[in-house]
Amino acid sequence: MNGPEIHISFAPELGLFVAAPRRHRRTALATDGVSTLGHVVESLGAPLTEVGALLVNGAPVAPSHVPAAGEDVEVRGVQRPQEVPGAPLRFLLDVHLGTLARRLRLLGVDAAYESEDIGDAALAAQSARERRVMLSRDRGLLRRRELWAGAYVYSHRPDDQLRDVLERFAPPLAPWTRCTACNGRLTEADKDTVRERLEHGTRRTYDVFAQCTACDRVYWRGAHHARLDAIVRAALRDFGDAAA
Ligand SMILES: [Zn+2]
Repeated sequence: MNGPEIHISFAPELGLFVAAPRRHRRTALATDGVSTLGHVVESLGAPLTEVGALLVNGAPVAPSHVPAAGEDVEVRGVQRPQEVPGAPLRFLLDVHLGTLARRLRLLGVDAAYESEDIGDAALAAQSARERRVMLSRDRGLLRRRELWAGAYVYSHRPDDQLRDVLERFAPPLAPWTRCTACNGRLTEADKDTVRERLEHGTRRTYDVFAQCTACDRVYWRGAHHARLDAIVRAALRDFGDAAA
């Protein structure tokens, strides 16, 4: 490209998306004089889901702005907590984020997820249809125009992924109200009505506390309870207030 030359700089948190020479500094860029700033930013590697304000010579512009010669462009990251207006906050996770999906559900956050890979096109369509924020580590998926909203998940580690999503979106937390297997709502279960579904040892030892209204799965305080309870307590301690 040898059209208008601009200067562009990216917020530090966007550094991992752009080529090393453009990190942490203002660099020159030849544009084509036709492409929008949104397209220019995306073509340099930053998904627009991760981009907050776009400033030209210090003043905010829309992603549809077409850069002109001599402009100084500053690309900021999304503000946290991030608002997603237009629908109740709910999520859709790609096939690689199963652990994160179960943890969000454990906290009562609406998190759709299929362990089968339905493909980027179907995921993007579901995000649009159900107005769900698409969570993914796949930049190609996050570039899809059909998405209702999206967010890049920055870490490989489920602990950090959970903190990232809770900090970014501050969803209201309601632990132990959602089925970790299917995302359905839990209802209080009576031990007598579900006792024939339980193994004898379980029946004797544990108190059944919930049943899924969608898949009928029964929940009780069993072997994994302490580990799950630790996740819940940490989330409420660090993020419970933000969501209240
Ligand atoms: Zn269920």
